[in-house]
Amino acid sequence: MRLQDRGAIVTGAASGIGKAAAELFASEGAKVLAVDLDADKAAKAHEGNERITPLGQDVAAPDAAEKIIGAALKAFGRIDILMNNAGVALGAPVEEFPDEYWDKTLAVNVTAHFKLAKAAIPHLKASPAGRIINVASVMADGTDYGLAAYSASKAGVAGLTRNLALELGRYGITANYILPGAIQTGMTVNFDDPKIAEIWAKKSPLKRLGQPIDIARGALFLASDEGGFVTGHGLNVDGGLMLR
Ligand code: NAD
Repeated sequence: MRLQDRGAIVTGAASGIGKAAAELFASEGAKVLAVDLDADKAAKAHEGNERITPLGQDVAAPDAAEKIIGAALKAFGRIDILMNNAGVALGAPVEEFPDEYWDKTLAVNVTAHFKLAKAAIPHLKASPAGRIINVASVMADGTDYGLAAYSASKAGVAGLTRNLALELGRYGITANYILPGAIQTGMTVNFDDPKIAEIWAKKSPLKRLGQPIDIARGALFLASDEGGFVTGHGLNVDGGLMLR
């Protein structure tokens, strides 16, 4: 068991990557707070798993960090791992991009990561192996039509994480970010169309789409003792998508 009795918070945990990570962390012995917008959806996603406590909470709400930390402490009394994963991808050409899209993208994808990390720090300091894992995207380094805000937010996650690593290393806390490629989740419903799925699969040297478990396994490495000397790192889990 790589995470025996560690306390973990995973946001965006009712679907896709967050759901897979919450399940994998729990299967490795962690107690997990699974945070998502909708309490029922979070509860249903993890029904019957005694190691997972669901919480309905918008990570971008003003008091979200306080509520999430409070719920984790109430559920298992310690916080060793924070996985900031909740994200939105709102797309439109820059010239037509609504300001509300920009504000929401930055609020959910990067500001919420900062606020929750900040609130978790006192508890991560008390852990023998504090870990922050932020989910960025290959779009942190890339471009695509309509994704200016998304790309900016993910580049923000990368910069935030490297600075967390720099400041928190002295407390034995690591901070890393993952750059997923094209992953088949609720965010990428267009991959349900076999033709679109095939186009994206072919872009990767491994010739397949990623699955949520691929990213969860990368997160487990960073959360576990095996990843204990890795910090400030951006882990591409993209099947080689960004090689060309
Ligand atoms: P998903 O839609 O399957 O899951 C995201 C979850 O986050 C959903 O359950 C959603 O309800 C939740 N969420 C959204 N806004 C929230 C909020 N304000 N508060 C709480 N929860 C909220 O998508 P996914 O692909 O699993 O996305 C997870 C992360 O991976 C995101 O940060 C996304 O940007 C990133 N990512 C995904 C891909 C991909 O191809 N799917 C690629 C790169 C990066």
